[in-house]
Amino acid sequence: MKILLTAGPTREPIDSVRYLGNRSSGQMGAAIASNAIEEGHEVTLIAGPVSAVMPTVSKRIDVETSQEMRDAVIAEFAKHDLLIMAAAVADYRPARVHSLKLPRHESMTLELVATPDILAEVGQIKRPDQRTVGFSLELAGNIHRSREKLARKKLDLIVYNPTETMNSALVEAVLLYPDGREERADEMSKSDFAKLLLARSLELFSAK
Ligand code: C5P
Repeated sequence: MKILLTAGPTREPIDSVRYLGNRSSGQMGAAIASNAIEEGHEVTLIAGPVSAVMPTVSKRIDVETSQEMRDAVIAEFAKHDLLIMAAAVADYRPARVHSLKLPRHESMTLELVATPDILAEVGQIKRPDQRTVGFSLELAGNIHRSREKLARKKLDLIVYNPTETMNSALVEAVLLYPDGREERADEMSKSDFAKLLLARSLELFSAK
């Protein structure tokens, strides 16, 4: 199986030295990559600025911004069977990037605009033989938001996890499918969860 995997955060520049970012470490992506390689899959990794150590994969593309991640995913997707978007893509970026370092003032207002929704775009170009898997980090109790994203981004599987999962060694998740099926995964290590997710992702190919 040829797997396209994204991991880590994105950084959205404000000026020549500052950026907007998030606390994603890339641990979940690293666990998925390690297990996929161990199981003999070919993995293309598109990595944001991760702090977690990534295993050696068939091909690695390092990116910084959501736009760079989008361009890399769109360029690579057609060559792969499965896309797993474990990256925590920033939802907003500064409307304009200042080329020089901004001086300090008493206050400052940043105008933000939405970043490209990579999975939604992939949903439009997905072939019937391809599958897409997303993650949805939500406040506890907001699983309905994950269901909405599963439908809107035309995913085959979405992983709901409470926000506490970010940067934690453990995962507590619910796997959601377009036919309404839900599978609750009890708290487990990211490596065990990666194995479960890969097994379920592969099952998607026999399901349709
Ligand atoms: O941020 P959100 O909760 O919408 O993320 C849900 C899924 O969509 C994740 O798998 C994430 O990688 C992906 N995503 C994306 N493009 C964005 C934001 C999120 O593909 N701009």
